[in-house]
Amino acid sequence: MNIELRELGLIFESAKYHAIAPKILINLQRVAPEEFEELKGLSDATGCDLADIVFAIGYTDIFDMYLDNDIRDEYNQECSCFITTASIDKSSYIVCGQNWDVDGKTKDNLCFITKEYSDGTIIFALTTIMGLTHIGMNQFGIAVGTANLSCRHTQPFIIFPVVVQKILRAKSKGDVLKVLDLQRFSGHYYYIGFPENYALSVETTDHEHRVRQYNVGMHAYTHTNHYKEETLKHKGYNYSPSSTQRDSAMGQLLENTHTIEDITGIMGNHEYGLCRHADIMSMPQATTTCSSVIFVPTKKKIYIANDNPCKNNWVIMKE
Ligand SMILES: [Zn+2]
Repeated sequence: MNIELRELGLIFESAKYHAIAPKILINLQRVAPEEFEELKGLSDATGCDLADIVFAIGYTDIFDMYLDNDIRDEYNQECSCFITTASIDKSSYIVCGQNWDVDGKTKDNLCFITKEYSDGTIIFALTTIMGLTHIGMNQFGIAVGTANLSCRHTQPFIIFPVVVQKILRAKSKGDVLKVLDLQRFSGHYYYIGFPENYALSVETTDHEHRVRQYNVGMHAYTHTNHYKEETLKHKGYNYSPSSTQRDSAMGQLLENTHTIEDITGIMGNHEYGLCRHADIMSMPQATTTCSSVIFVPTKKKIYIANDNPCKNNWVIMKE
């Protein structure tokens, strides 16, 4: 594990993590018993240590434990997210989505999954092989995605894929807001689209969150990998050298968009580095856009480019 993490730019001692892992697992079981059971099932089926699976899917949160002690390089989990309005069939709809940027190694482990729960909830999601969910939509049209933020304060509670999966099991805004009240491991950004044609933009730390509601016709909300809320800015680090540029460029470019095609063009933009297009064959640790996703929650529609979005290989997935 140590060698791979060095390649990602961090000297990390796994013993440090394993020292607190029992506490993380106890809190996970208490706060998110269903997600705990799912991960335990993965552990039982694969023979992988449960704590290592939690690390594999939540390492961006777990790395934040060391921010006070270690200077870190880019952690390869950088995404560019947006919420805006598009014209579809002569009506205006909120659309939200992101470029999902990972390192070349992680790109090999990505997959699409559909999950059906015993209460009848069905979710469609993008994730990694060992993951819960990272980005997805449920059959009610509630859609969620995320971008990594680095929070200076952490606590051994739930990692971000647990938050995402709990949001995807929500049936209403009220359910989603209850999920945001849970204690988290560290900070993340989430955009959440609703079938009632609005969306929420949510910045979180481990124990706080700020919610903004986006309604049809408003200026685009964009978010990358630094805190933007005035009251949370001092809680985080901006470790990404390209985060502010990607955020402002995406915001400006989205001001002139009207259609889904306009938006797919922006997601493939190279001038401002929105499409991360690394040569991962020779540099597997480099950041690259592995998938791009656009949700139209009101229409329960998902557009996916399962590669660099500049290649323009978008497909429509409908719930
Ligand atoms: Zn590209």
